[in-house]
Amino acid sequence: MTMKTMLTHALLCAGVLLAPALSAQPLAEVERQIVSVAQWGATPADPAAARKQDEITHITLHHQGEPFPAGTDPVAYLRKLQGWSRTTKHWLDIPYHYIIDLDGRIYEGRKLEYAGDTNTEYDPTGHALIEVVGNFEEVEPNQKQLDAVVDLMALLAARHKVSIDAIHGHKDYSAQTVCPGEHLYRYLQDGYFRQKVALRLAGPH
Ligand SMILES: [Zn+2]
Repeated sequence: MTMKTMLTHALLCAGVLLAPALSAQPLAEVERQIVSVAQWGATPADPAAARKQDEITHITLHHQGEPFPAGTDPVAYLRKLQGWSRTTKHWLDIPYHYIIDLDGRIYEGRKLEYAGDTNTEYDPTGHALIEVVGNFEEVEPNQKQLDAVVDLMALLAARHKVSIDAIHGHKDYSAQTVCPGEHLYRYLQDGYFRQKVALRLAGPH
């Protein structure tokens, strides 16, 4: 191999690694843009009723499981979800830590320091729970949602030192659900999310 070929090869390798990371916004910016509970106007959860989780060891993907038609107000949806979670389910709060809308905007749900809740048989303690709006048994996720999932998974993996091997979907832990739905689960199954997150973590952040 000549020096020139070696250099080209090295640049190509670097390019393959860095190009997606460079085109994406820094993780600190992803973090800054998360719509906080205070910003979307939720009422904070009662810390006395919370189960604390000291360590995040897993990142687990969910879907809403109901249609989320274009034009639906995400904040109205979040308020309704919070009301239902507390009044009907008697949970501390929204069961998920983050919710991604149709525009790929990320909203804070339950505080990450509190363990999530579930209707199914797994114990979500230590899991950072991400919900994407829509029913992915019926519709495909859009690219903004996919990008936001990658951004958020990378942010959580970086901040909490979670292995990309610990990125899974709800149904990987429960036989009682198809969540996060066939058309979103596919991106976990074929390695798309784990690969994109790895690239994101290899780049500057
Ligand atoms: Zn789920």
